[in-house]
Amino acid sequence: MSVWDRLKGSEAAERLCAQMAGREVAHAWLLLGPAGSGKLAAAVAMAASLNCKVAPGEGCGECRECLRVLRRHHPDVHHVVPEGPLIPVGVVRESIIPEAARSPFEGPYKVFIIEEADRMNDEAQNALLKSLEEPQGDTVFILLSEHEQELLETIYSRCRVVRLDAVPEERIVAMLTEEGASNTDALLAARVSDGDLERARTFALDDATSERRRLWLGIPRRLASPVDALDSAAEVIAEAKEVVKRRETLQKEEVTDLAEAMGEGRGTAMARNALATRHKRELRRVEEEILGEAIQSLASFYRDVLVLRVGGTDAVANLDVLEEIESWVGAGEIPDAALVQIIDRCIATRATFTRNANATLQMEALLLEIGRLAPAPSRVGSAW
Ligand SMILES: [Zn+2]
Repeated sequence: MSVWDRLKGSEAAERLCAQMAGREVAHAWLLLGPAGSGKLAAAVAMAASLNCKVAPGEGCGECRECLRVLRRHHPDVHHVVPEGPLIPVGVVRESIIPEAARSPFEGPYKVFIIEEADRMNDEAQNALLKSLEEPQGDTVFILLSEHEQELLETIYSRCRVVRLDAVPEERIVAMLTEEGASNTDALLAARVSDGDLERARTFALDDATSERRRLWLGIPRRLASPVDALDSAAEVIAEAKEVVKRRETLQKEEVTDLAEAMGEGRGTAMARNALATRHKRELRRVEEEILGEAIQSLASFYRDVLVLRVGGTDAVANLDVLEEIESWVGAGEIPDAALVQIIDRCIATRATFTRNANATLQMEALLLEIGRLAPAPSRVGSAW
């Protein structure tokens, strides 16, 4: 086993793997490619290879170091993710720069994985530039982006650039079946995740995610009245809170790990505070992700109804609820235009979903709007 197994078939990842094994460790990397092309998986595999104790440079995927990196628990591997629309300059100045100047706690390398690096505005990118220009010998930055035009030329030129390609549907299906998913599940996962390998993998192999998806896909047929819409919104929010709670439990383990790694001595308070801040952000992010997942599932449901109205099942994503989708196709009271409007509204809501806004209100507004535009077919006209 190796931490690179999940990226089999990607030429770019194979090159990266060889570079890690050959100890070609640049201090700054920029991984480019569309969503789901494996940028994050590749970055995590790099971080594990760099810190693996059993097979240094390779990443055995089984030792304590590898496992902690894969579970995002390693005290020397930092994930930086946007808060709402941005990675604020404050995060770069207060969390990244001082942390990057310190030596690793345990492993040979301190790694920063900056997801959606293009969400740093110019000010934030310029702030990061210093650390990229004068790196600590044992610090490695891995920036990920699917919008390279948003990155400053100066950032670009200081990184070793690697491009990853989108993953074709057949390869997703092949990989997932190899990992234990049934053929039907693998195809379904590939379709609903739009060629995004990581999402497909979660869909196919994580029971909690597929259960949640069933919950989201059950919403349209429940929207028979405004009260139903509000109830459904409350359920979505409650589910997101539940996932947040589970993540909190994992975070507590990480705090214990860090305490074990560093002891309680002087100078450790800063690291503990940094971890606490990161955890708080992570929880907000998780909640956003779950709500985004719900919205995306809803959009894909109504999109499938449209797709089925105009043609065959070839382009339908949610193959497992085909019967349900078919029952909506004949609902003549719901015009195509209303479905298009719902999909647009979902996309818009998802795009503006930020931690500052009231998630409950946004979700209620969305579901009320959807219910008004497309009341559940069996009770059309009843309560709206
Ligand atoms: Zn290992």
